[in-house]
Amino acid sequence: MCVVCADVEPTTLLEQLISHGILIDTGIDGIYGRSGVFEDVIARFEDLVTRTGAEGANPMAPEVMRFPPAMNRFHFERSGYMKSFPQLAGTIHSFMGDDRGHFDLLEKLQNNEDWTGQQKTTGVVLTPAACYTLYPIVAKRGPLKSDGALFDLQSYCFRHEPSKDPARMQMFRMREFVRFGKPKQVQTFRAAWLEKGEVMMKKLGVPVHVDLANDPFFGRSGRMLKNNQRDQGLKFEMLIPIESEEKPTACLSFNYHQDHFGTTWGLIDADGETAHTACVGFGLERVALALFKHHGLDVDAWPKSVRKALWG
Ligand code: ATP
Ligand code: ZN
Ligand code: MG
Repeated sequence: MCVVCADVEPTTLLEQLISHGILIDTGIDGIYGRSGVFEDVIARFEDLVTRTGAEGANPMAPEVMRFPPAMNRFHFERSGYMKSFPQLAGTIHSFMGDDRGHFDLLEKLQNNEDWTGQQKTTGVVLTPAACYTLYPIVAKRGPLKSDGALFDLQSYCFRHEPSKDPARMQMFRMREFVRFGKPKQVQTFRAAWLEKGEVMMKKLGVPVHVDLANDPFFGRSGRMLKNNQRDQGLKFEMLIPIESEEKPTACLSFNYHQDHFGTTWGLIDADGETAHTACVGFGLERVALALFKHHGLDVDAWPKSVRKALWG
């Protein structure tokens, strides 16, 4: 029996993870602490992703970049995120008042009133997807080389979607490979990862299937964007049952943006044409959760083949 959960038998996956100390409750749905065991699984999976990326004939070596989980507010605005996903965005505000304002704030806090009225926007927003930070940086470098470019990113991301489903967190990490180039170059990259990703996940002994998907574009005008994304096959997801068998969870995603970011940021290829982009995203917490779900909470008891794929 688990010492922490001695008197209450945990029922949901989230309760089991918390009672075994794998995730740590903070009192907010979707914001958890991670134990050493959980982090080790993520580190080993990230290593597997790196190794898988380097496989195959003449793999392109990615340029590795890591950013903190916040980004330039103006870049965020220009990316169009508020047009498509206003419901998910997290913006950072700070107190910018004087002594009088501070006094008012403390008084409101004391009276349990809303004290946030004087919070003003900073130049910073929370990163919603690892690749959003990258496009303006690549654009600033000037035209791409003839073979385009490939980046390896990882970032904590924020999305305001609190849930009791442990696989739907508010802050989670996304590892991404982002490819820039000609349409053919970026399509080939995405197709290769659709295959590689499936082989890689099968080594981890989890049931996967790939399906066409769409992003949760907001509102009435969003419906058209969702249909368009599906009709053109721009987003695929690799799904694994975690919280539910009927509604498996997207653990990897494969996105072709066509010239969307190229046009937004003025990304130019070696021939002076607008560059196309694609990204492959690995939801690191979701993959770890899928492993705990399918192989149990004791990593030492995971199947040998899975342990070998991760720990060598
Ligand atoms: P979903 O359809 O489940 O909301 P998504 O389509 O929003 O997923 P993407 O925007 O493609 O996901 O994000 C890339 C990856 O990040 C996903 O494949 C997933 O593994 C992970 N991810 C997305 N949202 C969350 C979340 N709330 N908590 C944990 N991981 C997430
Ligand atoms: Zn991306
Ligand atoms: Mg989502």
